[in-house]
Amino acid sequence: MQRRDFLTAIAAVPFAVTLSRGALAQGRAGVSMQIIEDMQKNWKALLAPGTEVPAATPPVKRTEAEWRKLLTPEQFHILREEGTERAGTSPLNAEKRPGVFACAGCGLPLFTSLMKYESGTGWPSFFTTIPGALATKTDYKLLYPRTEYHCARCGGHHGHVFNDGPPPTGQRWCNNGIALRFIPQKA
Ligand SMILES: [Zn+2]
Repeated sequence: MQRRDFLTAIAAVPFAVTLSRGALAQGRAGVSMQIIEDMQKNWKALLAPGTEVPAATPPVKRTEAEWRKLLTPEQFHILREEGTERAGTSPLNAEKRPGVFACAGCGLPLFTSLMKYESGTGWPSFFTTIPGALATKTDYKLLYPRTEYHCARCGGHHGHVFNDGPPPTGQRWCNNGIALRFIPQKA
C-alpha cells in the first residue's frame, strides 16, 4: 500500500463507522417505513367496492362563482380562501370507521383511515397521505413560515403539515374536517 492510500484508508475509518451506524438506524426505520409504503400503495383496499373516484390529473379548474355554487359558505372559505375551521368542531375528529377521506371540493381521495391518528389538536390528523394527492407551498400568514398543502386536483386548501407527528414519518397533516368527505368502506 502506498503511503497516500494508507492515509486515505485511515481517514475513511471514522466515516465508515458513522455510515454503518446510519445504515443501522435506517434499517430499523426501514421496517416500519415498509408499513407506510404498503398503506400508500394499497390505499384502494379501503375504498368501498364499486366506488368511482377521480385521479389527480387532469386538474379541475372552476371560477369563483362556480365554486360558490358547489360549496357551502364554510367550505368555500376553507377550500378557496385558505380559511381554518375552529378546533374540535369537525365530526370527522371522531371518525374511526375504515374508509377513505376525499377532497370535499372535487372528490380526489387524499387519506385512508389507516393513515389517521389522534393528535389531540382538534383537527383530523394523518401521518402520511395517498401518494400524489396533495401539493405544498410555504405560507407566512403567522409570524413563522408554515407548509400549507392543497388538493393536487382542484387546488383546494386543506391544512398545514408539521414535523411533530408520530414515527416513522414524523409528519402531522393537520386537515380541516370541513374540507374532507369521508367515504366509509362499508355502507
Ligand atoms: Zn380537490
